[in-house]
Amino acid sequence: MFKQMESYDTQRLHFCHDAETDLKAIIAIHSTGRGPAIGGCRFIPYSQENDAITDAIRLARGMSYKAALAGLPHGGAKSVLIMPEYDFDRAALMQSFGQFINTLNGEYITAMDSGTQVTDMDQISRTTRWVTCTSMSGDPSPYTALGVFEGIKASTKFKLGKDNLSGVHVSIQGLGHVGYEVARLLHQAGARLTVTDLDNERIKLCQQNFSAHAVDPDEIYKVNADVFCPCGLGAIINTQHIQQLKVAIIAGSANNQLAEDKHGDMLNDKGILYSPDYLINAGGLIFVALQYANQPHAIIKQKVLQIHHSLLQIYQEAERSNSSIHRIADQKAEAIISASEKLHSAA
Ligand code: NAD
Repeated sequence: MFKQMESYDTQRLHFCHDAETDLKAIIAIHSTGRGPAIGGCRFIPYSQENDAITDAIRLARGMSYKAALAGLPHGGAKSVLIMPEYDFDRAALMQSFGQFINTLNGEYITAMDSGTQVTDMDQISRTTRWVTCTSMSGDPSPYTALGVFEGIKASTKFKLGKDNLSGVHVSIQGLGHVGYEVARLLHQAGARLTVTDLDNERIKLCQQNFSAHAVDPDEIYKVNADVFCPCGLGAIINTQHIQQLKVAIIAGSANNQLAEDKHGDMLNDKGILYSPDYLINAGGLIFVALQYANQPHAIIKQKVLQIHHSLLQIYQEAERSNSSIHRIADQKAEAIISASEKLHSAA
């Protein structure tokens, strides 16, 4: 476990077991130099406890990078709750998790992630104030989608020299909270859409409302488009799919899109512009963090729109140094985090 913490620069791991509610929770804190560590709470079944620990460690670093590059006054963390195998009282479990968060005295602020909903955050808020994404604050997905839309605009400008999205062909994988809204914004901007989802109803909505062309889930990688926009699963950029891709740009919301770091290099070698996931999908985190800090809507929106500029900067830096984009983004995030950790420990 310590080896894994070392390779991901994890600062602290906190564990809690509450026999009464069957809560089995892990909170991984990656960094706190920039402020309280913020990151979602994942609530899914795990057959191996080690997998839950690995998820928490790996995802916490991603949150640090995301917060650092978005210029937010937060470090990164992730919590993982192992879903009980048998019947359990969900509300009681979430309230117990809130009490666990309290023991960290504000070091960690939780949010929604895979397997948790606004109603869970409402339960957590009954026992702690270190929680976002409650029904009082609203859904971050439209802000994530707005950031992705801006990211697609920045990417097509950089790679294709286009000043607008009229006629640009975008293939979208996953039409959920984020993907559907991205499709709406793209359609409004005059883009041509090819879409897929596991849920046929989501596809039908896009066909009816945005004149989208639909393909089967396995076919989406083979679509001859300008932009591939992954908004479903992580780890879909692997060797097999890279061989199939016929696009100039990958820009979408899914977390952890690269199956391994080497796949970012393979995209670079193939001349495909890759928009680092934790940069382009930061809109939701920006919304959550700034709303927690009681910032007005106009400021939140302005900050989300800045994703456009941040991406252009990273693309230009990668081009200047002849490096893969994901490596430049990692280095930049690590430099920001390490500078704030040093300042923090000197204070
Ligand atoms: P969601 O669950 O609402 O939607 C995901 C959609 O993808 C679903 O409709 C699902 O059927 C579809 N899907 C899953 N596997 C698929 C496959 N193999 N082929 C085609 N479609 C598939 O999730 P969301 O909130 O829209 O988030 C989408 C992605 O963006 C996730 O990876 C998430 O981690 C990431 N993300 C979301 C936010 C946010 O604000 N919601 C923020 C940052 C990152």
